[in-house]
Amino acid sequence: MKTKLLYHENSFTYECTGTIVAVEGDEVALDATVFYPGGGGQMADRGILSWDNQRVQANVIAMNKRNDVVWHTLDCTPPTLGTAIVGTIDWDFRYQMMRTHTALHILCGIIWHEFGVQVTGGQMYPDRARMDFAMENLDKERIATIEQKINEAIEADYPIRVYTLPREKAFAIPDLVRTKINLLPPTIEEVRIVEIVGLDLQADGGTHVNHTKEVGGIKITKTENKGRINKRLEIMLTNRQ
Ligand SMILES: [Zn+2]
Repeated sequence: MKTKLLYHENSFTYECTGTIVAVEGDEVALDATVFYPGGGGQMADRGILSWDNQRVQANVIAMNKRNDVVWHTLDCTPPTLGTAIVGTIDWDFRYQMMRTHTALHILCGIIWHEFGVQVTGGQMYPDRARMDFAMENLDKERIATIEQKINEAIEADYPIRVYTLPREKAFAIPDLVRTKINLLPPTIEEVRIVEIVGLDLQADGGTHVNHTKEVGGIKITKTENKGRINKRLEIMLTNRQ
C-alpha cells in the first residue's frame, strides 16, 4: 500500500478527492492526499475530511506517515473502507508553513555562502522557526548581516524549483553533499530536490512557495548559544502577502 503524495506534486493544492483504503482505530489512509504528514522540521497539516456528499465532516487532528502510507487521525468514528472523501487542508496554516520553510532554506543558503557552515537542526512552529548551525562565532554584526542578506534574497525574488534526481546524480552534486543527504536510507532511489535557483539546493520533502518574494520578510528574534560550535537562530516572518 502506498499513498499518492499530492503535496509533492503541487504544494499549492489545498483540496483533493480520495478513497479510504485503510482504517486503524481513529486513523484513516487514502489512496491520495494533500495533507502533509509532517517531517523535516515542517509541521503536519490540519484540516477536514468530509464524505457522504460533504454531509459528514471530521477534523484531521494529527498526521502520521508510516512507510509509504500517510495516516489521518480523525476526531470521530472513521468512515468505512471504500468511502469516497473530500480532503481540505487549513490553507492559511499551510501557506504560513510554506513561507517559513522557504525562509529557512534561504537562511541555510546565506549562512553557507557567507560563513561556510552547516545546519545541524531546525524546527518550524505556527508563528516562528529555529535553526541550529555548526558555528563558533555569532556576534551582533553577523546577526545583522544574516538578517539583511535574507531580506535582500527575499526581495530579489529567486524562483524555487522542485524536482527529483536519481540517487547517484544527487550524490554527485557537491552542494547537496553538505546537507544531510548522506542520511537518506539506501532504499531511496529518487531524491526530491528543492532548489532556490542560485542560492540553495537541498534534498527535501517539504512544501515551499514558488518565489522567494512570497516569504514577505523575516526578522531574527532570538539567538542562543547551544555549545562552542553550535548556535541557534530564531526567525519570524514579518509581512503577510
Ligand atoms: Zn527543508
